[in-house]
Amino acid sequence: MARPVSPPPLSDAPLEPGLYVVATPIGNLRDITLRALDVLDGADLILAEDTRVTGKLLAAYRISGRLERHDEHAAERARPKALALLAEGGRVALVSDAGTPLISDPGYRLVREAAAAGIRVYPIPGPSALLAALSVAGLPTDRILFAGFPPPKSAARRTFFEEVAGVGATLAFFEGGSRLADSLADMAAVFGPREAVVARELTKLYETVVRGPLPELAADPAFQAPKGEIVVLVAPGREAAATADEADAALAEALTRLRPADAASEVAKALGLPRRDLYRRAMALKGEGR
Ligand code: SAM
Repeated sequence: MARPVSPPPLSDAPLEPGLYVVATPIGNLRDITLRALDVLDGADLILAEDTRVTGKLLAAYRISGRLERHDEHAAERARPKALALLAEGGRVALVSDAGTPLISDPGYRLVREAAAAGIRVYPIPGPSALLAALSVAGLPTDRILFAGFPPPKSAARRTFFEEVAGVGATLAFFEGGSRLADSLADMAAVFGPREAVVARELTKLYETVVRGPLPELAADPAFQAPKGEIVVLVAPGREAAATADEADAALAEALTRLRPADAASEVAKALGLPRRDLYRRAMALKGEGR
């Protein structure tokens, strides 16, 4: 765990009314932004997945705040109260146990309803296990498909992996230690020998990042029943990568003659790929000046 923390240099500026979605550390308590501390200090109400977990974070930074539970079960009760406070011009902070709220964590209904009620919703960016894992994996990051937690049962899990196997992107999954071995075995069965990365306990004492082909990772004794929290990243398949390269080359050529929308239509027809994806890619390529 982190060293004791000295009192933070909190801002004196008053906090604007609104809903603040605040990222918090995924392990190391020092991974918190100064702005996150300002918001937690200035909020009239902090909605937390687990008030004990957030209580420890606040105590470490000597912030006292009104904490209320907002998890899958308590959200139905907590949400109307929070929305009423926001409607009166209050400041509400939403945090999860770790990382960025709403990323496989509760909160989207609150954000949606607050936005629909005309309340300003502020992102307070910071840690996320997904981005932390991607940042050290050494896999392509220009296209990422975040698929969240795989289903717990093998048959459903294999179908779930099959659905994303053809996507031309690095695949990202959340997993818990107890299911890792079964999940890696199913990944190896569906994705074959693709390169993958197991990122475990990031920013914590037993942080480990292991890279290798999926069958090797699936057979690794260290992953048979590891403790802790894990992100698994899988490289795009060669076929999908080849298609992506082919599409880029075709788009780059078409963009020398056509507007992005027309270039996307032409390449979509030629390669049988979705036009919407190609249009996005065409705009990105244009932005990169290619
Ligand atoms: N919203 C969180 C975020 O942005 O990081 C993720 C919440 S999700 C319920 C929890 C999952 O995130 C864990 O099961 C694990 O897959 C991943 N995770 C969280 N902390 C992690 C860490 N320190 N190292 C690796 N994976 C982590």
